[in-house]
Amino acid sequence: MFAWSTLVYPEIFVYVLSIYFIYNFIYEKEPPFVFRFITTLPFLPLIFLAHTSYTLTSYDLTNCDRSAFEGPLIQYLYAVELLFVIAIVGLAINGYRKSNIEDKPRIFYVTLGVLAFLLSFSFGNIIGSTSLDWTIGQYGLFGAPVFVGLLTYVIVKYKAFDIRVFGAQVLIVILAFLALSQYFFAQNWYGLVLTSVTVVFVAVIGYILTRSIIRTRNRSHELEHMTAKLGEANDKLRQLDNAKSEFISIASHQLRTPLTAIKGFVSLLLEGSYGKADATLQDVLNKIYVSNERLIRLVQDMLNVSRLESGRMEFKIVPTRIDEMLRDVYNSFLIIAKNKNLKFELALPTKELPQVMADEEKLREVVSNLLDNAMKYTNEGEILLRAEVASFGRVVRITVADTGIGIPDDELPYLFNKFSRGKDINRLHASGTGLGLYVGKQMMEAMGGRIYAESKGVGQGSEFFLELVTSE
Ligand code: ADP
Repeated sequence: MFAWSTLVYPEIFVYVLSIYFIYNFIYEKEPPFVFRFITTLPFLPLIFLAHTSYTLTSYDLTNCDRSAFEGPLIQYLYAVELLFVIAIVGLAINGYRKSNIEDKPRIFYVTLGVLAFLLSFSFGNIIGSTSLDWTIGQYGLFGAPVFVGLLTYVIVKYKAFDIRVFGAQVLIVILAFLALSQYFFAQNWYGLVLTSVTVVFVAVIGYILTRSIIRTRNRSHELEHMTAKLGEANDKLRQLDNAKSEFISIASHQLRTPLTAIKGFVSLLLEGSYGKADATLQDVLNKIYVSNERLIRLVQDMLNVSRLESGRMEFKIVPTRIDEMLRDVYNSFLIIAKNKNLKFELALPTKELPQVMADEEKLREVVSNLLDNAMKYTNEGEILLRAEVASFGRVVRITVADTGIGIPDDELPYLFNKFSRGKDINRLHASGTGLGLYVGKQMMEAMGGRIYAESKGVGQGSEFFLELVTSE
């Protein structure tokens, strides 16, 4: 009779576990202490009354089913069960309201399953104990498959549980039961020892296994979380980068106009349009002109970079004759070369060069940039601008050679990177952005050509080559 009356414990326990389950499912964490404490309280009266006639009023030794669970404690049980059901519904509604749209159906189906199970279970028990016909009562357990069915649906459809953890735990529990069941079959003491060893073994392995699975799962959750954050950060960076390009573009536009005006006036002054300037003034004007030219190129480079990066740079690539342009560029640098006392030569073949596929204005900028560098990085000696046909007539190669500071081997591969400047360059030549060659490379590639550099080493001069395909 004592044993039979203990049946009232699991009855409440089922409800307690159900509410824990719902709590865990909705809030994805263990219920807090207060919650656990309150849900444990209903067990208290059971301890004192479960095994008295308040619970089981009579007991049929030959047929347990006939025993009468009719005491007042049974009514208490039903009341507690009802309270639990209400609490579960409350929790679920609250969770449902606060959850986001993807979680709503999961919460709905799982709660429905739990309720189907609990209600049919209670209902079966109520019928069983009031009619004392437990054959009808046992149908109440059919709520359980409904619950399992809905749970499976939610797992498959909405990936509600991490099936790896879930599956591993189920497997371990089954293994544990199998191992424990061996106790029934153990016939002697070493059978018992063997079983005990197996049980301990399964427990330890099970523990390690679940822990490692949970750890991997947490890590992959973290990873997902971090990936999402990184994505956001990346978007923000991109926006910032765009804003920066936009700013540079506007700023350089604004800078270009006054610089061009300065260039015009200085040229006029040098030509003597405002009266003849004496030698000292000429010298100063030359210096202004040269610095101004450099500023113009710098602004142009920044503008080019922002255009290249926002994809707004347009190329008009057509078959082009470049002899004239080269002469032009050469002439515009004569003044700078003279200022620095450098020998400056132009070497074009006697026969006109074949047409090449290029955008003349862009090519002019690239050549100017190379010459500007050559002048900047050469303190004495000579600079040569040469053009020739190469690769059996397939390309035209333009060379800018100087006798300047040269380029160390380890810097050669990085010259054409954005913002890349030589290690000692800042000290030697403060002006410069490290953009010229980068822009040059981008432009040459867009025109289907290439750009490369050679140098025998520090102090040995440098050579820069541009190659363009001929269109004939
Ligand atoms: P900037 O000249 O503004 O620094 P560039 O992109 O034009 O930027 O050049 C990148 C780097 O390549 C320079 O800082 C310099 O170290 C090196 N370089 C370019 N041209 C020459 C040259 N003619 N002689 C030696 N070094 C050069």
